[in-house]
Amino acid sequence: MSDMISDRAKRIKPSPTLAMDAKAKAMKATGVDIVNFGVGEPDFDTPDNIKDAAIKALQEGFTKYTPVGGIDLLKDTIIEKFQRDNNLNYSREEIIVSCGAKHSLYNIAQALLNPGDEVIIPSPYWVSYPDQVLLNDAIPVFVKTYESDSFMVRQEALNSSVTKKTKALILNTPSNPTGLTYDKETLEIIADVVLKHNIFVISDEIYEKLTYDGFKHVSIASLDNEIKARTIVVNGLSKAYAMTGWRIGYAAGPKEIIKAMTNIQSQSTSNPTSIAQKAAVEALKGPQDFITAMRDEFDRRRKFLIGELNSVPGISCLSPTGAFYAFPNMSKLYEKSTDGRHISSSSDLALYLLEEAKVALVPGEAFGDDFYIRLSYATSIDEIKKGINRIREAVGKLKRRD
Ligand code: PMP
Repeated sequence: MSDMISDRAKRIKPSPTLAMDAKAKAMKATGVDIVNFGVGEPDFDTPDNIKDAAIKALQEGFTKYTPVGGIDLLKDTIIEKFQRDNNLNYSREEIIVSCGAKHSLYNIAQALLNPGDEVIIPSPYWVSYPDQVLLNDAIPVFVKTYESDSFMVRQEALNSSVTKKTKALILNTPSNPTGLTYDKETLEIIADVVLKHNIFVISDEIYEKLTYDGFKHVSIASLDNEIKARTIVVNGLSKAYAMTGWRIGYAAGPKEIIKAMTNIQSQSTSNPTSIAQKAAVEALKGPQDFITAMRDEFDRRRKFLIGELNSVPGISCLSPTGAFYAFPNMSKLYEKSTDGRHISSSSDLALYLLEEAKVALVPGEAFGDDFYIRLSYATSIDEIKKGINRIREAVGKLKRRD
């Protein structure tokens, strides 16, 4: 039996964030009143103008295969988006549209990595990066970042993690799970390392539109032409336009890499859904005020949640400047117990909070740092209030054993 499944498939685990979300939804379905801080998607509906564009495409019979890497109209719209938002110029051969940003990232891993290649991943990291690297027989190399540095990667740590086998580094700003945004100085440090060692940077910018406190997102590719030639930028529609189910993401980079990705896509999924592509054109070209309204609401929740988290004894949380996640440090609660139940890790704590407080959140262990947990604030203020009160009460019951 053990031979049935490939070594490659055995190396990976199902996405822990999706697993936690599924568990919370299953409990909810049986009538348990769960507050779900586990979700990785906006709680807003896709705007009507975008839905209408899909309906129109459907009614016009735009229901056949399209070019593998996306229709020209969408590629041109993405090119305009890069010019407008990121001051980056690309041609059509430098763009690919995939079935979500996750799919673009997977195509990149397939196009770039040989067995044994190393990929540097600053930790805490988004859950899929290491497993996508492992699925391609390559090796994730983690570089730890620290809360005291606002989770910015340190130059010395980066330099010492590069070996002859290093092929790429994955950068994610704004970051899932920390909610922090890379400053220009750190981007320049990363660019120096990338250029010095002739590696690539895979820049996941999916949360670009969700930034706070006046922070303006900068793409590492826009620093200069040299780094642009070593960067593959990944972005998508899921988070900015509340379109997680539509599965449209895209990548931009050197044309040889994009061509290899397109070949890979042609042998796996073929084109992303035709009508979703038309909807994506409307999303990127149409009115953008939806994003501002959603961002402002996230901002309100962010301020409230962070204030509340920091008022719970034993919990401390940096103020995130992007995405829709809080990543509080929970380690002061470890080695405490209640009713014979002992908490010594983020998983113990997440399970305790799910069972005792009926609050779902994702243990930091899933993101490579056991001191933390991740809460998504893509849920209403009322739910946040309810959830925090439950956390406060459950945490209050934990006592240090003497
Ligand atoms: N990158 C990051 C950092 C994410 O958080 C997510 C979604 N959770 C993705 C990529 C994938 O997004 P998509 O829906 O476009 O596949």
